[in-house]
Amino acid sequence: MNLVFLGPPGAGKGTIAALAKERLDIPHISTGDLFRAAIKNETELGKQVKSILASGELVPDSVTVAMVRERFLLKDTDNGFILDGFPRTIAQADSLAEMKFIDHVVNFELGREEIVKRLSGRRMCKSTGRIYHIIYNPPKVEGIDDETNEPLIQREDDKEEAILNRLEVYDRQTAPLIEYYEKKGLLRNIDAKGAPESVLAQMLEAIGR
Ligand code: ADP
Ligand code: AMP
Repeated sequence: MNLVFLGPPGAGKGTIAALAKERLDIPHISTGDLFRAAIKNETELGKQVKSILASGELVPDSVTVAMVRERFLLKDTDNGFILDGFPRTIAQADSLAEMKFIDHVVNFELGREEIVKRLSGRRMCKSTGRIYHIIYNPPKVEGIDDETNEPLIQREDDKEEAILNRLEVYDRQTAPLIEYYEKKGLLRNIDAKGAPESVLAQMLEAIGR
């Protein structure tokens, strides 16, 4: 099953994708994670996008589409995938339509106040990308990853100024995709407010699983 997870930053797409990929046995492809890995590994791509990610702006469509196209060359995507954070513009969605058939676009709906709470409390293990929240999903030992014992970090773009910019970028460039996919009959709205297990259950129901 080929899935797209759509929704504002902080709506819980990555958290639910991490649970759903086990259930559905398909890979989770997060363009944000791919960019962060490139930055960490100091690749050419990483150098090119580092300041863009820190500011919360979008990486140019050509660069992002090329990265996704390359990811699709790996055979693990042949039996399905969860795309998380892609597409984020109409141009990216048009490119995706040329690359892959999409079964469902799951739209995570969440109010602004809750989004800001989720983003400002998000913490991450830099090496594995595992996501926590200081209140909603804290690690066993404060500030330390449960598995790797490494210190957790706060993403540069989860600091207040970047959060506000990212929400503006979402409204301007990504929110139009809701209507785009609605018109194609692919949109499945879910309420992202509840606990992760309940959001996961809604998501599975929305895609007929
Ligand atoms: P996205 O991938 O949409 O940007 P994340 O999955 O990274 O969002 O979640 C953002 C923050 O909210 C993280 O700190 C995560 O632990 C927390 N979170 C995710 N889903 C829920 C939920 N259903 N209830 C409470 N907190 C959540
Ligand atoms: P995310 O982890 O999805 O919140 O993405 C983090 C950042 O990576 C975004 O704020 C953008 O700078 C960049 N990014 C991720 N996905 C895309 C995309 N599809 N198009 C452009 N930029 C992206």
